[in-house]
Amino acid sequence: MDTLVTVVAATGGLVVGDQLEIVVARLGAHEDLRRPWWSCASCGAPAGAAALVPVLRAAARHRGCPACGSRPAHALRPLALAVACAAVMAGFAARLGADPSLAAYAVLAAALVALSAVDLERLILPNRILYPAAGSVALLLLVASVADDRWGSMARAAAAGAAAFVAFFAVHAAAPRGMGFGDVRLAGLVGLAGGWLGLGHAFVAFLAAFVLGSVVGLVVMAVTGQGRRTRVPFGPFLAAGAVVAVVAGDPVVRLLFHRGG
Ligand SMILES: [Zn+2]
Repeated sequence: MDTLVTVVAATGGLVVGDQLEIVVARLGAHEDLRRPWWSCASCGAPAGAAALVPVLRAAARHRGCPACGSRPAHALRPLALAVACAAVMAGFAARLGADPSLAAYAVLAAALVALSAVDLERLILPNRILYPAAGSVALLLLVASVADDRWGSMARAAAAGAAAFVAFFAVHAAAPRGMGFGDVRLAGLVGLAGGWLGLGHAFVAFLAAFVLGSVVGLVVMAVTGQGRRTRVPFGPFLAAGAVVAVVAGDPVVRLLFHRGG
């Protein structure tokens, strides 16, 4: 049963992740989402038939627009988004199984992948992705709480989300250049989603985010030789921390807090 759920989630992740390219490219650039899907960003010409097929699209994008010849900046990114989204959704499904909360975590997976991609490209976390994602995740967790009578989980989610928001806001207020307000908002979402599984899971999410961020940050500083001036987006590490907490949170929480068996 859980294998079937995982396979369905991976397949859905491939389809959703591929389409996330439009969200990442347009919302990252503050453009309109309503323009025809997959149309040329420069001249607005609709995409040819090949560009509508996910894998063929990479080649079509690389060749450029048939009308004006302009090439999208990241021809292969839809493939990367599809693979990342499929991997995260499959990981969540393997951990949660056919649970009512899986809908919330599927939305979270797509949001984390899209936000990470925008942050890597532009060092921003658009509210036009964050707010609908946070609202949907909160609503779907509420639905799961009603369905399973899991009000303790919902209370922990709200507490962890609020605590994370306040803690990150304090860091942002003290060092606005080091921690953007987008990171504060994303931390609230990660706290919410981690906290629904347990307060320990929320803790693991932020621990993993800071450990991964520190290690990668040091490597980037060493490679670029620019020291502390190097700007490293923190969103992808918060996203990775959330994935670690959901997929591997149970054993890590047991290890850290010596609880259960
Ligand atoms: Zn064009």
